[in-house]
Amino acid sequence: ASLPSGPAAVELRGVTFAYEQDGAPTLRDVNLRLESGRTLGLLGRTGSGKTTIARLLLRFYDPQQGTVTLSGTNLSDFKLGELRGYVAMVTQNIEILAGTVRDNLTLFDARIPDRRIMDVLSELGLDGWFAGMPDGLDTYLSSGGAGLSAGEGQLLAFARVFLTDPRLVILDEASSRLDPLTESRIESAVDRLLRDRTCIIIAHRLATIQRADDIAILEQGQVVEHGKRAQL
Ligand code: ATP
Repeated sequence: ASLPSGPAAVELRGVTFAYEQDGAPTLRDVNLRLESGRTLGLLGRTGSGKTTIARLLLRFYDPQQGTVTLSGTNLSDFKLGELRGYVAMVTQNIEILAGTVRDNLTLFDARIPDRRIMDVLSELGLDGWFAGMPDGLDTYLSSGGAGLSAGEGQLLAFARVFLTDPRLVILDEASSRLDPLTESRIESAVDRLLRDRTCIIIAHRLATIQRADDIAILEQGQVVEHGKRAQL
């Protein structure tokens, strides 16, 4: 099937999933629905299954029971290669590869012109940060990102996502404290990210929940609350 041209509606219906066959399920009969273009704040304690839902949406795994659909089409009906461009996850543990800033942003896709990279950086308000780089896009980063702060790693992750321009974004928010300048840059990157996309934010902060249209709360692999934020 071909992917929707705009932001997809997302639905998990009766999803049960265990990491190990015959193991105790990590997700149990999960039902979640998110309309196109809306933002869902996903809450729950550590180990409740938030990241596991993200992994199913990225199709790292398939559920043992139930279905995951994008605008009504089962995830397994899409080509994996196309899906990987359509759905993206931004995490706090961004992997910095040994290579230039350009390589790290494009993931070595030489078809992306510098012009476009610079546009994205300025759209995200990162020109100032970038101006401090000794060799511009040719600045070399060593594997593991030595020399980059946690916040800069996050910003790089945002820029990466904007370059691939996915329609469904899962944001695993940083729980660590960042300096106020980086924090405000990240806030504005998040605002930009939410526009014209369907978004799921694994929320660790109250401020984020305020941005969400809908809220779902997970407890031990089950959805215990789900609805419009205003109604909860
Ligand atoms: P956190 O807020 O800490 O990220 P979470 O809500 O995202 O937690 P998950 O990472 O989805 O929770 O984990 C849910 C459960 O699944 C946990 O009990 C965890 O130990 C288990 N789990 C996660 N990943 C794996 C894996 N690759 N193999 C086996 N079990 C796993």
